[in-house]
Amino acid sequence: MAYVDRASGTAQREDELRQEMVRTGRMMWERGFVAATDGNLSARLGPDRLLVTPSGLSKGFLSADDPVVIRPDGELLPAYRGRGRRPSSEILMHLEVYRQRPDVMAIVHAHPPVATAFSIAGVTLARCVLPEVVVSLGGIPTAEYATPGTPEVPESISLMIQEFDAVILAHHGTLTVGESLWAAYQLLARVEQTAEITLAAHQLGRVGTLPPVAQSQLAQKRRDWLQRHGRPLCDGCTVCALGTTQAGNNWEGDGR
Ligand SMILES: [Zn+2]
Repeated sequence: MAYVDRASGTAQREDELRQEMVRTGRMMWERGFVAATDGNLSARLGPDRLLVTPSGLSKGFLSADDPVVIRPDGELLPAYRGRGRRPSSEILMHLEVYRQRPDVMAIVHAHPPVATAFSIAGVTLARCVLPEVVVSLGGIPTAEYATPGTPEVPESISLMIQEFDAVILAHHGTLTVGESLWAAYQLLARVEQTAEITLAAHQLGRVGTLPPVAQSQLAQKRRDWLQRHGRPLCDGCTVCALGTTQAGNNWEGDGR
């Protein structure tokens, strides 16, 4: 079974996808996006098979043989049973995303410290502060807290993931999705960088939001981006008003 890389249109063999998973896990660990055995990665191998990282291993030191193959209902394929490897209980949220988003080919879950700290402080990252974030992500919403590893987690992200490719899991971490592991990893890096920039601005004295004219221009660019990527347009999409509907915002806007 081959994994189809939508970006290049070429078939990517399972062993190449395993190597990509190893590289991505390594980058997550090197950047401090995960500690100990935190985080998990997954990718579609085909319509009825998913390649996923097993629980209990550091994502910085995976080998290509470590990821296991499961069915879309989460069941381990018979060939992988009895080998002491099983998917993480956090795989439930991955399964929910694959159910909801046929366009998603890979998912990365991590615990990036600054972005996660925002949710602990009750400060939203869904604000109109960085043009690139507005256009490429539409915003970074925060899902309500759910106990990791329970069915509460897929429920908490179920609606948001229909529209957004990056979601903060309150008091927990991030979930980013894409057409490849590399794409999902890049969004993780973008989320953490957004959090770092916003924190630095706060420390300098003020987190200013973009002026309304710029916001409406960016909203149009966002609609163009969605159209180019074959994604449904959200009716009357208010990309910068998310802060009013997501987990609190302790930092006042500057009123511009
Ligand atoms: Zn986690």
